Amino acid sequence: MHEDILADGLREWESPLYRESLKQFDRVVDVAGLDDNIAERLRVPQRALIVSFPFRHDDYSEVQSVYGYRVQHVLSMGPTKGGIRYAADVNLGEVAALAMLMTWKCAIVGLPFGGAKGGVRIDPLTISRPEKQRITRRFTSEIINFIGPNKDIPAPDMGTDGQTMAWMMDTYSQQVGHSEPAVVTGKPPELGGSVARIEATGRGLLSLLPGSAAHIGMPVEGARVVVHGFGNVGQYAALAAFEMGCKVVAISDVSGGIYDQAGLDIPAAMQWVARTRSLEGFEAGEPITNADLFGLDCDILIPAAIGGAITAENAGDITARIILEGANGPTTSGADDILRDKGVFVVPDILGNAGGVTVSYFEWVQDLQNYFWSETEIVGRLREIMSRAFNEVLSISIDRGIDLRTAALVKGIRRVADAKLARGVFP
Ligand code: NAD
Repeated sequence: MHEDILADGLREWESPLYRESLKQFDRVVDVAGLDDNIAERLRVPQRALIVSFPFRHDDYSEVQSVYGYRVQHVLSMGPTKGGIRYAADVNLGEVAALAMLMTWKCAIVGLPFGGAKGGVRIDPLTISRPEKQRITRRFTSEIINFIGPNKDIPAPDMGTDGQTMAWMMDTYSQQVGHSEPAVVTGKPPELGGSVARIEATGRGLLSLLPGSAAHIGMPVEGARVVVHGFGNVGQYAALAAFEMGCKVVAISDVSGGIYDQAGLDIPAAMQWVARTRSLEGFEAGEPITNADLFGLDCDILIPAAIGGAITAENAGDITARIILEGANGPTTSGADDILRDKGVFVVPDILGNAGGVTVSYFEWVQDLQNYFWSETEIVGRLREIMSRAFNEVLSISIDRGIDLRTAALVKGIRRVADAKLARGVFP
């Protein structure tokens, strides 16, 4: 069926990640007993916006045009919610797939949002801070009618951060004539950002480690962990693993990786990256390529960089018994089949990295109410939501004899389908 969609004049969604997302979705349609008409609606996003806009380089005479995207997958659940990524290869299909994943993710943890995603096709490492600010402000102006606290609420993703969100919030607020903190999440706390948002995705992911390890009978203390990607998610996931008494034996970023069987000093690596923006030059362990990282002897693998990192080519080499997916769409369906056959316990992205959007939801609620919670309240509520979702998904998986990814999708897709059925067709 997904092949038909892409052949049916809807080729604008074409991208490897969108194909993967449709494959996953179609596998679940039967298991979840989904109504055909609803399944048809959910296969494609409800709204998408493509913009092209110019920005001035620091060299004032140079003006470059770039593409930007914002896709809203489902508008039936409440406002839409999802990150904005800056990357050299971002395209409409990738953003559409990520918006779809956001819909399931929000439904799995029970948040009142549909999924959205956005991006600008630019390599964030090739632009200066002032250039990034100009891109962000112009992009925000281009999509201004598409976003809003009750419409669609962006957040950080790859290549963007709290500062990017601050510029978005400021640009939006300037246009509407008053301060509107609830238009984005992941802002600095001084602007109405939530404490504990920066570390929420990595920490939320690792909060599922004790339950996962207990389920397969593996001790957490001393477990060897490999982390692919050392940005926001990878760093805080590695730090949480380090603090739980695991040995983080390898970390990597786009510049390459570092391996030390005795375990790496994660706080020191984080300080290095905060100073230099890269792991390159961090003196510890042995250098290792990103390709070799996946074949390392370890107990837990955390993909926290890009989509499609674990493929049918490298899945066979993976020795980890647990994979905690921090990145969105890190595992192709070919790889997923191999990992399932090998009995690897995969905590899927839509469940594992939902901590980010959960704390974003807390931030949005706090901004709307102008009433801010303590870190203890936020961390406690995050843990409660993550562990409830994990236990519900695990019991669906056990009851139906299906893997965790399928079980999570069944839970998420079912909830969205039920909401759509209850609302009916307009007019
Ligand atoms: P980030 O930009 O902070 O970090 C990305 C990291 O991946 C960097 O260390 C970068 O060097 C590395 N990387 C990029 N390309 C690579 C490659 N080809 N090989 C190895 N490493 C590479 O981004 P982030 O916010 O940490 O997001 C990482 C992933 O997690 C993305 O897939 C994102 O969609 C997902 N995610 C992020 C959040 C969040 O709250 N930030 C929430 C949910 C999911």
